[in-house]
Amino acid sequence: MNKAKNSKRTLKENLAMIVRGYKIVFKIYPKYIVWRIIGDVIDTAAPYFSVFMTSLIINELVTDRNKERLFWLAGITVVGILAISIIQRIVHSKVNVYGSDTYRLDMFYYLKMQNRMQYEHLENSDVTLLREDISAAKFATGDGVMKLLWNINDLVAALTNIILSVSLTISLFTAANVGTYTGFLGFISSPFAMLIIILLILGDAAVCAVTSALESQKVTKEWHELAKFNTIFHALNIWDSDTYIFGMKKIILREKKKEMNPAYIERSQKHKLKYSRIRVTFGHIVTAALFIFIAAKAYMGVIAIGSFVLYRTTVSKFGYGVAEIAKVIGILIQNNEPLSKVFKFLDLPNDMYKGELTVEKRADNQYEIEFRDVGFKYPRSEEWALRHVSTKIKIDSRMAIVGMNGSGKTTFIKLLCRLYDPTEGEILLNGINIKKYRYEDYISLFSVVFQDYKLFSFSIAENVAGKIEYDKDKVKDCLEKVGLTEKINSLENGVETALHRDYSDDGVDISGGEAQKLAIARALYKNSSFVILDEPTAALDPRAEAEIYDHFDSIVENKTAIYISHRLSSCRFCDHILVFDKGNIIQQGSHDDLVADESGKYYELWTAQAQYYTETA
Ligand code: ADP
Repeated sequence: MNKAKNSKRTLKENLAMIVRGYKIVFKIYPKYIVWRIIGDVIDTAAPYFSVFMTSLIINELVTDRNKERLFWLAGITVVGILAISIIQRIVHSKVNVYGSDTYRLDMFYYLKMQNRMQYEHLENSDVTLLREDISAAKFATGDGVMKLLWNINDLVAALTNIILSVSLTISLFTAANVGTYTGFLGFISSPFAMLIIILLILGDAAVCAVTSALESQKVTKEWHELAKFNTIFHALNIWDSDTYIFGMKKIILREKKKEMNPAYIERSQKHKLKYSRIRVTFGHIVTAALFIFIAAKAYMGVIAIGSFVLYRTTVSKFGYGVAEIAKVIGILIQNNEPLSKVFKFLDLPNDMYKGELTVEKRADNQYEIEFRDVGFKYPRSEEWALRHVSTKIKIDSRMAIVGMNGSGKTTFIKLLCRLYDPTEGEILLNGINIKKYRYEDYISLFSVVFQDYKLFSFSIAENVAGKIEYDKDKVKDCLEKVGLTEKINSLENGVETALHRDYSDDGVDISGGEAQKLAIARALYKNSSFVILDEPTAALDPRAEAEIYDHFDSIVENKTAIYISHRLSSCRFCDHILVFDKGNIIQQGSHDDLVADESGKYYELWTAQAQYYTETA
């Protein structure tokens, strides 16, 4: 399947993907990449320096034998080799430092990207699968961004080899003939011989390129076959109860054993041998021809003996460099398939963040929100979760949203807080579509305690403030309002105590009731104009829920509060009640008005639930 997709891409498209991939690699590991490239260039160039200096010294020895020049050449060689080794040591230590954290930096990058993502994608299981795919490929075979990182080494070495071998060998072809020869030496002096040698060098490079590319394709394919097991292991965590009950352990071992099977290894080696035999045989022929050509040139005095030593080494590095580049590009083209998943993840649309209007901060909280014929379908769902919803949320009011489970109450809140945008219709804040406001500004107006609110294994204060920098007195004040002061005072580190023990051995576990109070304290700390309770009390009995709602109402003071419940008793104190049914608002008004309409849904629900709250009613 990979192959089919890859073959659909043109070489240009494949190369463009690799370039984009490397831009990402550079973003994640800027320092590492710079040091890595410097290190690879120096490591590859170092042997050229020795050979080049040796050739100069030999040339001096067989010609003038000038003592002073010989002294300088030997001095430069020794100092140069020493300097190169010192520089290499420094650069290698930098490469080790910056290269030791590659996996963590990669994860950090994805976290940052995920933080920027609009909420819709976080709830989308396709996106979750995509992330898991990217991560499984990374851990199994390094496919994706890691593969690009790992191949920088070979790529830089190959390019350095090509550049240095071409620049050091060019003089072999430009050196003027000395004297006139006939026969074999005459042929060597002719432009025709030079053409044959150049063609042989290019032919060698082509053979190296093709065989290396084919070999790398085969190796990658085998690697992926083996990696399948690791991927399954990574994705499914196969050691669960079924492994024990149904005896899967043996199958797991059988799969793992395949990798170590001598017949399998022999088969895979055979493929590699086939290509390397072709490459080596052709390489030998070219090297022999070059040797004769260079030796004859030296014999005729066209080049010095020292240069003979130099050319012998440098010419063959050209083919090697080309082969390496072809191999790496082959690997990277294969890698484009998993890399395309990384791009897909990074390219998920973020339409939510396009608004630019600032939301005026108003001390009087004079905001009015209107739903105008709003309809909404969840992504990838054909059902309307909300349809034709129109209502106004008045300031300073106590509003309730009631209705059966699944009637659309939470969805209404998610649209109100802009976790999703409506599929049709619009939501207006003070008469302007909320999409036109800056996202951060708009959501700063809301505090919600959702049914499935989340607390984190950070300190209590950070959980309440939701910020790294927080006002400790304000945190304590909010905790006081929800009745947690006594609990906090009983903890040695007070509000700085961590929740749970994931990050701290001194962390505390708290009860469900305390967690709920903490979540409410967090909603108070944010000090937003709208505070919303979305049934965080669903697990409690109706009377306990009504008490919490009542208490909450007394602490939210002058803010606009919205209460959601499928229990009507919790919200009867509200000024305005919306009754949801199958995604529509079917009734709205005060409790007294609604209960008076005996043919309405509210009356039906109220009577059906009356047994739970006759006392509170
Ligand atoms: P309520 O809060 O009244 O219990 P919801 O707003 O949670 O109701 O759900 C309204 C409808 O939307 C239901 O049919 C529910 O199944 C559907 N729904 C809720 N969340 C999602 C989601 N993330 N993806 C698809 N459908 C959803």
